[in-house]
Amino acid sequence: MEIIESIHDIPVQDPPEEDFSSADLGWTKYGTDEHHDDVALIPYDRLESFIIGESSCAECPTRFHIERGRARKEGTLKTYKSDEYLLFRVYWCSFGPENYGEGGGILYSRRYRLNTRNRAARPQSMRGCTCHFTVKRLYARPSVVLIIYNNRRQHVNSSGSICHGPLDRDAIGPGAKKVPYNCDEIQQQAMSMIYLGMSEENVKQKYIEGIQRYCGSDAKVSNHASQFVHKLGMIIKRSTHELDLDDQASVRLWVARNSKLKFFYQDASENSAFILGIQSEWQLQQMIRFGNQSLIAADSTFGIKKLKYPVCTILVFDSQQHALPVAWVITRSFAKEDISKWMKALLDRVRSVDSSWRISGFLVDDAAAEFDPIRDIFSCPVLFCLWRVRRSWLRNIVKKCTNIEVQREIFKRLGRIVYSIWGGIDSVDAMEEFIQDFVDQTAFIEYFKVSWVPKIEMWLTVMKTLPLASQEASGAIESYHLKLKQKLYDDSHLSALQRVDWLVHKLTTELHSSYWLDRHADETGSFQNVKEEYIASTSWYRALQIPDTDVILDDKDHLFAKVASQKGTSHVVWNPGSEFSFCDCAWSMKGNLCKHVMKVNTICHNRQGFEVSMSFLSYKQILSDLLQKPIDDSFSLDLSTALTQHVLDRMKRLVELNDSKGIANVVSTLPLKWTAKKRRNLNGMPSSNLALPSNLKSRSKKVAPKKNRKRKRLSRLM
Ligand SMILES: [Zn+2]
Ligand SMILES: [Zn+2]
Repeated sequence: MEIIESIHDIPVQDPPEEDFSSADLGWTKYGTDEHHDDVALIPYDRLESFIIGESSCAECPTRFHIERGRARKEGTLKTYKSDEYLLFRVYWCSFGPENYGEGGGILYSRRYRLNTRNRAARPQSMRGCTCHFTVKRLYARPSVVLIIYNNRRQHVNSSGSICHGPLDRDAIGPGAKKVPYNCDEIQQQAMSMIYLGMSEENVKQKYIEGIQRYCGSDAKVSNHASQFVHKLGMIIKRSTHELDLDDQASVRLWVARNSKLKFFYQDASENSAFILGIQSEWQLQQMIRFGNQSLIAADSTFGIKKLKYPVCTILVFDSQQHALPVAWVITRSFAKEDISKWMKALLDRVRSVDSSWRISGFLVDDAAAEFDPIRDIFSCPVLFCLWRVRRSWLRNIVKKCTNIEVQREIFKRLGRIVYSIWGGIDSVDAMEEFIQDFVDQTAFIEYFKVSWVPKIEMWLTVMKTLPLASQEASGAIESYHLKLKQKLYDDSHLSALQRVDWLVHKLTTELHSSYWLDRHADETGSFQNVKEEYIASTSWYRALQIPDTDVILDDKDHLFAKVASQKGTSHVVWNPGSEFSFCDCAWSMKGNLCKHVMKVNTICHNRQGFEVSMSFLSYKQILSDLLQKPIDDSFSLDLSTALTQHVLDRMKRLVELNDSKGIANVVSTLPLKWTAKKRRNLNGMPSSNLALPSNLKSRSKKVAPKKNRKRKRLSRLM
């Protein structure tokens, strides 16, 4: 936004509404590069209308009181600046500036006690709100008044949290009651729908339905609700990521205002790298719920070339085993100490709610990443996920080689190099041979030599030393990655890619809303189409819809498989069974792991003579290592036997849980009362979250220990 230096260049606005608020005005940045404020000019006789409008903002109903004021008489100044005042007043939200609530104190700057008789004097209504604006009736133009907002048009306290009104879950102020107090869920639903661009009518309808569930049908309430949704829409439409012209200052402001959303922040300086860790309250709840005794994954280094700082997303696998983002970390630092800092902050945040929370494994996708912080902080095994390397190879093959037969063969040969970690052939020889054989594919070989040859040994070593994650996990992470890409690289914002404030805004509004609504739809069933789309958003799920009879394997040479599609066409999957199988469908040709590959591989894993997936080989390797551990007939053998038996028991239970026919049997043998939580009836990865009661969403601290106890009990069963 441009900074205007002369007040004469600012238009006078006179909105047609009877009362109007800051959301109805256009704001100008006025001042100098060093110091500027958001200002608007309105006629002096509309000042009351503005104050009334500003007080009845649906999100934060309040009153404004005059905190400070000065005036001078006309004709007393000989020379004056164009913005000199005739009347000067600071209006402050009546829920502040003092904070008599939790953690609040009396402001030292107060020289006198305010007469609180006319204001909400109950202690809980003084919540440290910082919302205030300054009004200047201009000396040179007494008919207009300049409204100045110091970059803050939000009712938040000094730590940046919303401190009153229906958005504040602790608010018990008189103003809060003007709008029926509604739970976070309905509020969040409306916000998510607006962020996702759904029609206002649709949002209103769903919002009113939601409210009516709490307070029945009431025309007045509906009318209020309708107005609220409209206002909310306006606020969202006019909100901007650009809190300051300078990106760094803007991010700093965002951090100051959104202390509940950030879990770690380190500003960029000479000695420290920029790190911003973001996690909403809802995301925290999902991380606790789905991460506990299950897996979490990192989609690391997203946008390393296009964005100012790449994004690392921490994912959990939800009840549909879809990847759900539960935290974002924006940084370019991959140094051990920096990773440790944000990981520790993240874990501390989770543990502050649930001290028994722990994960069973952490999936990484970058062989160059530091694994020590994960092991040290999360104290769990690190698994490697092949999706990223598979994707970049496939994309480059399709892009750089034109002939499909060559494409298939290159991918198969690269697969063979990776599979060489299980012995048989020497990977260095295999790579030299590969480069020789495809030397005519100059574009691809050039890419391979530059991007992979120098580090392939390191990648192969990591794949060999770490357990490998499944195809389903790969598909789920890839689906998330695609969604992130689609949201961020939307053409209209290409110029913003270098701004961190834009990235933060995009993640916390659109992307967050999209996942929030997916989960909400899945759990409540109130958005049937959203739910269907969400469930079908992974290749694994789509693969499960293909009947076995549609797959024909080349039983003789095991070179390919054919998958018939409903449209009457068919797709050929080359190198079936391998993680490096190649399908000729359009989705696969974009580098994605398609449903045909997944389906064919699932079938191949149960057939003799076909390739088996890397993750399955990795599992077998671990088991044979276990068997080969030399142990004498001693006490340590007893311990090992006990441990192995424990692992076996746990695995049995997981497999039983996985089997849809077995779930009912398992459940009936459990002493716990299982809630009627919807769970998928399809094969898939085990999930400890099956065990979590659906009321875990509740954030009430009072009941938290009880829930922990339940989960602990279950953890002993698993
Ligand atoms: Zn306020
Ligand atoms: Zn395909």
